[in-house]
Amino acid sequence: MTVFGTNSPVEEEGQAMTQRNPYVQYMYSYPHKTAYRPLVGVDLRDYGDRFAGPGHGLYFHVPFCQSKCGYCNLFSVTGMGEEVMDRYLDCVERQLGQYAPIMEEAGAVFSDFTVGGGTPLILSEKQLERVFHMVDRCLKLEPDRQIIMETAPNQTTKEKLRLLKEQGVTRVSMGIQSFQGQELKTLKRGHSADRARRGLELLKSFDFPCVNVDFIYGIPGQTVDSLLLSLKEAVNFRPEEIFLYPLYVKHGAAMERDLREGMILEPERAYEQYREASAYLMSEGFCQDSMRRFVKTRRGREDRDSGIGGEQRGGEPMTQEKSREFSDCGSSSSLALGCGGRSYAGNLHFCTPYAITRERCAEELRAYMRQEDYARISHGIFLSREEEKRRYVIRHILIRPGLPRDQYQERFGEDVLEDFPLLSQWEEQGYLEKCHGARNLTLTPEGLGLSDWLGPQLISGEIRRKMEEWDHVHGEDHGSLQREPKEL
Ligand code: SF4
Repeated sequence: MTVFGTNSPVEEEGQAMTQRNPYVQYMYSYPHKTAYRPLVGVDLRDYGDRFAGPGHGLYFHVPFCQSKCGYCNLFSVTGMGEEVMDRYLDCVERQLGQYAPIMEEAGAVFSDFTVGGGTPLILSEKQLERVFHMVDRCLKLEPDRQIIMETAPNQTTKEKLRLLKEQGVTRVSMGIQSFQGQELKTLKRGHSADRARRGLELLKSFDFPCVNVDFIYGIPGQTVDSLLLSLKEAVNFRPEEIFLYPLYVKHGAAMERDLREGMILEPERAYEQYREASAYLMSEGFCQDSMRRFVKTRRGREDRDSGIGGEQRGGEPMTQEKSREFSDCGSSSSLALGCGGRSYAGNLHFCTPYAITRERCAEELRAYMRQEDYARISHGIFLSREEEKRRYVIRHILIRPGLPRDQYQERFGEDVLEDFPLLSQWEEQGYLEKCHGARNLTLTPEGLGLSDWLGPQLISGEIRRKMEEWDHVHGEDHGSLQREPKEL
């Protein structure tokens, strides 16, 4: 599961930060899917009430891509034609038909709808329209719901963007990763730098309320200068948000072979790139919400337009929208449709079994398409109260404005600093500070940059053991599983 090395935070206790690998694990959710296990006798019909009322998230997974990127650890398959995609949509429609009465009985109303993947825009216009229609027909969305769509340069066309506009999409995210041709090749991305420029230009011309672009640092051969060149180009397109991801190459990803054959990942260089890139984006009027997310502030944009240097903090975010990852207070539920997405129904989390390689993803996809009763939940986890506390802390502490102590107390009846003495240690070490009359716990700029090293320290022994067990069992599979699946 590790990228740049094998440093475990536990082994490293007591070492100076300079000796540590800051890139242990991305904690975007907790627990990781590799800690999920088969479940027996669990039925969504018995948990429908966890979707009662408004404020829930809806996620639609499109598991198809044109080619597999070298670092990809997401659920996606390549080489599928329109006919397979049609059959997939038939299955999701069947799933929706089975979920609809459960959600109706619960009175569920969804406040955001995300279409992710994979590459959602690989679907034809007709298929994309079908996605929106089936959801509209079966589930209730709030009138001012957010609709979020992931896209990629090669699949972005005028016609598809027009359709997204007509469907009321409020946020579009585009994976650019780099504007340097060689870096895109190293990453085995399917698009060229020029295609990325054209795709982003087209996207900006449609004037969506929020456009965000993703970039990667820590790419072998990348330098601070080449990263800044890419970011400068990105800033000129005036996106509302920029996400900066460190490169992680997990077991089973295509770049693993390059690493075996001598390519090296250098955490110290990646960390330096992060620091320079973060300083640059803040000087351009972006404020930093997390280790990865930089949001353009109104103040920053006005200052830039009037020739005054941007400021680091204090501006109001350019857009009111925040992706679910950043706005979810952790108590609402989220329903996933399709194969590869994950649902959260209170302390019950479920999804199809975790897969990275093309062959394992194709196997799971076949199983999904054969499934008769989608309300039967066969893989997931029930979180204990202790794990729910950990999840709450992880989901709040790694993002700004941080963890509200009063809310934690209200929810769990304890003081978070008593439950997690580790947080006081972080404070002593300068990674965490108390704000707003000590009621909020927020990472310092240094702590924010070390989120992928600090976050994993919050994983419980039990979850860590399950993740390691998964690694041990599945680590063997990978070498032989890089072939294209021929058919579904
Ligand atoms: S990184 Fe994204 S675009 Fe690339 S193969 Fe994975 S899901 Fe597809």
